[in-house]
Amino acid sequence: MSSDTAIRSEIIATCLRMNDANLNVGSAGNISVRVRGGFLITPSGIAYETMRPEQIVAMDMEGRYYGDFIPSSEWRFHYDILKARPDVDVVLHSHATHCAILACCRLDIPPIHYMVAVSGGSVIKCSDYAPFGTQALSVAALEALGPRMACLLGNHGVITLGKTLNSAFGVLAETENLARIYIGTRMLGGGVLLTAPEMDVVLQRFKTYGKQKDEIDPSITERVEPPAYGGACPR
Ligand SMILES: [Zn+2]
Repeated sequence: MSSDTAIRSEIIATCLRMNDANLNVGSAGNISVRVRGGFLITPSGIAYETMRPEQIVAMDMEGRYYGDFIPSSEWRFHYDILKARPDVDVVLHSHATHCAILACCRLDIPPIHYMVAVSGGSVIKCSDYAPFGTQALSVAALEALGPRMACLLGNHGVITLGKTLNSAFGVLAETENLARIYIGTRMLGGGVLLTAPEMDVVLQRFKTYGKQKDEIDPSITERVEPPAYGGACPR
């Protein structure tokens, strides 16, 4: 586990990375990371470019904050998600454009592409609308997430979850790409959705997706020593 200071720096780096990758605009997004005794969250109203590690706000699991800086106005859903989902340690929120377009149409992302399974399910749901910063938005977000790792927020944006900043960022990038794909298929008159059995196969395979050998069932593949060739690998 990284030190508290290192996590604070990683949160700022991930905020900047979201904007550089066109996954957020301005300082609309916010990030939280679970730490011992509570969580760290981006502060309210400070531009990512000038944000310093000491301005990241520490909160406890009673919803109280410490220090001189006020937490993001969206702290309620970060708090409620981290409380309700012990399987995740990171919450990302952004206004990624294509996710927001679907959210403004109150559309779920259906199984239009197999990568919808990065959410851990066959659909990425869009929540009902509730005003930003409210408990009602937190309730709506938790309902749309269910057991999954991503949801859209009605007329607002997107939330993605992960065990690490990197994995939650990966789900955000993929969800924005899926939103773009889905919008494109609707512009062409509608794509062909994958069936429930087809998605079940993908979801099963995703249990090992992006994992390393100590995390997966060893029966899936066998590791062998590389052949004793002198030069490049044969094709
Ligand atoms: Zn927002």
